[in-house]
Amino acid sequence: MPAPQRDRFRGKNVLITGASQGIGEAAALRFAEEGARVAVNGRHEDKLRAVVDKLPKVDAGPHVVATGDMSKEDDVDRVMRTSLDEMGGLDVLICNAGIMRPSPSEDITLDDLNAVLAVNLTSVILCSRAVLKYWRSNDLKGSILVNSSVHQEIPKPQYLGYSASKGAVGNVVRTLALEYAAHGIRVNGVGPGAIVTPMNDAWVHDPEQYKTVSSHIPMGRPGEGREIADALTFLASEEASYITGQMLYVDGGLTLYADFQKNWSS
Ligand code: NAD
Repeated sequence: MPAPQRDRFRGKNVLITGASQGIGEAAALRFAEEGARVAVNGRHEDKLRAVVDKLPKVDAGPHVVATGDMSKEDDVDRVMRTSLDEMGGLDVLICNAGIMRPSPSEDITLDDLNAVLAVNLTSVILCSRAVLKYWRSNDLKGSILVNSSVHQEIPKPQYLGYSASKGAVGNVVRTLALEYAAHGIRVNGVGPGAIVTPMNDAWVHDPEQYKTVSSHIPMGRPGEGREIADALTFLASEEASYITGQMLYVDGGLTLYADFQKNWSS
């Protein structure tokens, strides 16, 4: 796919959590291609440096490595400070980090449940709190984006913590959007379907499983990280200036009740 021609984020600073690979990395690339200075977060500095090395350079200055575990309060505060100090401000926060720990629900452990909720839900609230504090105390506007999932809507058996966390972030988006709408702060989310990223290594590299996954998707194929990044840049841009509190599903039709694609009910 050709690089975008537009420069919608020239002069803007963007922090992306969980940007060492997958959708977060694709988003970092997409924002930088459009002129943004990007702070990439993840837990491993070497991986983040490798991502930064791949990003196009921008006028505003070097992209930033902001290492930290976003499920931990101290790390969130440090990552936020690093991003603000090094970039001199923040216009867009993308809460993208996410994990899954599958098991039959009768066997779910408290450790697994807490781990999933900490990354997928609590970190969204902690990161949002930090950026909202910065914007409000400096009378600034900005945009928060949350990477949710089709499983905000579609139940996912054996992924109870994941489903619960994604359902909850949908309400975090709507609540924050309403609370801060009058201050010009927009809060939205994207809901990816099945996307080719390391999170899905189990089927991405197995031709048979890839075919099976594709057969469940109305558009007949999984999505690419870049296609989620396109939705994130749109929602963060001026083109979405009147959109807040919304969830944009980017899923090839998965949330359309795929089983009804061929009539079986009448
Ligand atoms: P991925 O596993 O490839 O990448 C996840 C990223 O989050 C990695 O960079 C990882 O290091 C980071 N991360 C995990 N825990 C972290 C923590 N505590 N602190 C900081 N960073 C942390 O996954 P992906 O497919 O790119 O998923 C990104 C987001 O998209 C997740 O929130 C996921 O739930 C969501 N999503 C993905 C899909 C899909 O099919 N890939 C579908 C729906 C939703």
